[in-house]
Amino acid sequence: MHESRYFAVIPAAGVGARLGAGLPKQYLEIAGKPILRWAVDALCAAPWIERIVVVVAPGDSVACGLLRGLQQVRVSDEGGATRRDSVLAGMCALGPLAAAQDWILVHDAARPGLGIRELEALRAFAESPVARATPEAGALLGLQATDTIKRAVPGVGAVRVAETIPRDRVWMAQTPQMFRAGVLRTALEHHPDVTDEAAAMEASGHPVHLVPGSRTNFKVTEALDLDLMRAVLANRSATESVDKGALQQ
Ligand code: C5P
Repeated sequence: MHESRYFAVIPAAGVGARLGAGLPKQYLEIAGKPILRWAVDALCAAPWIERIVVVVAPGDSVACGLLRGLQQVRVSDEGGATRRDSVLAGMCALGPLAAAQDWILVHDAARPGLGIRELEALRAFAESPVARATPEAGALLGLQATDTIKRAVPGVGAVRVAETIPRDRVWMAQTPQMFRAGVLRTALEHHPDVTDEAAAMEASGHPVHLVPGSRTNFKVTEALDLDLMRAVLANRSATESVDKGALQQ
């Protein structure tokens, strides 16, 4: 068996209705770059990811302009009605380049704060004995809950607590979510109603592992998230400029 290779798919065909900005949220600018470009640049920082397919809605010509000149990036405008459909379209666009045992990292377009450290942690999982011994195994970034967690039921007049769930067992899913191409495609084909790739893999009975993510890798969903992410990324841009300056001296 040849060494597994790494590819990425960014489903970016959502409309981001919750932000109400009048254009898909991945095109809003934060700290000098559109959100989508931040997400793509984050993946480009890992040279071991050979190709990145960005999947946009049919007729969307914005992404091509934003991503022009990035060697390893391709844009597919075959995005579907759900995230799962868009991910499958992205895998289709990769075509025979990705063999069944190769890894696919699926990353939300709306997570511009992904760092190289988290990507390297995913790769370390892929090269770990667990992943090598179990071809169906995969992993996603996640954050362990720090607040006490309540399960809720609709109540009369107000939501009511049904129970408190031990928080050491609760993680919030982030992306990238990384699975081998063959098993991921089959899982998504068999489980159309999932909201993330991990759910399709779980429903197929495959082991899904959690790799600690980062608090700055949150999804930009609401207006406040934009302000918070602006602070995170402005800080990152400043650090990068300082690093570049130090290298040039
Ligand atoms: O809506 P939500 O924020 O959960 O979307 C997660 C990701 O899935 C986003 O990057 C969004 O653009 C993408 N998506 C997609 N096709 C859809 C719906 C969502 O590519 N039909």
